[in-house]
Amino acid sequence: MSGSDSDSAVDTPEAFPFMRMALEEARAAAARGEVPVGAVLVESGDERLLARAGNQVEASRDPTAHAEILVLRDGAARLGTPRLTTCDLYVTLEPCAMCAQAIALARIRRLIFGAYDPKGGAVEHGARIFAQTTCHHRPQVIGGVWEVEAGAMLRAFFQARR
Ligand SMILES: [Zn+2]
Repeated sequence: MSGSDSDSAVDTPEAFPFMRMALEEARAAAARGEVPVGAVLVESGDERLLARAGNQVEASRDPTAHAEILVLRDGAARLGTPRLTTCDLYVTLEPCAMCAQAIALARIRRLIFGAYDPKGGAVEHGARIFAQTTCHHRPQVIGGVWEVEAGAMLRAFFQARR
C-alpha cells in the first residue's frame, strides 16, 4: 500500500543532475557541521531550478530547518504560491515525518529521494505519511536514487562524530 512504484532503485538520466546537485548541498552541509542532507526543488516541464539547500538546523538554531523545508519555502516564495503542483523535490535522504507532511501540504508532484532511512524516514518507514487517510496529497515517489552515495555520506558523518 505504501507504493510499489518506489521499491526499486531508479537511476533515470534526468534524475542525475538534480540529485548530484542535492548531494553537493549535502556535502556542503556536512562541512558546516550539519547532518548531511541536501534538497533541490525543480519546476517540472522546463526543469527549472527553483531552490537548493542543505540542512541549516545548527546554523539557524532551528529544529525545523531541514533541507526539504528550506527549498519548499524558497520555491513557494519564488513562484508566489503555496501550491507547488508542478514541482519535483529531490532530496538525498528519505524525508522525516515533518518534511513528508510539508511535501504533501505543498502538493509536490514528484518526490525523488536517495538513501532509505529506517530510523527516521516517514515515507517507506515509520509513520508512512503518504499512506495515511489524513494525507490529502500523495506525490509520486521514487526512492533509492543514488542511495549508495547519499548513504555513504551520512555514515561517514555519523562515524566521525562517534
Ligand atoms: Zn525532515
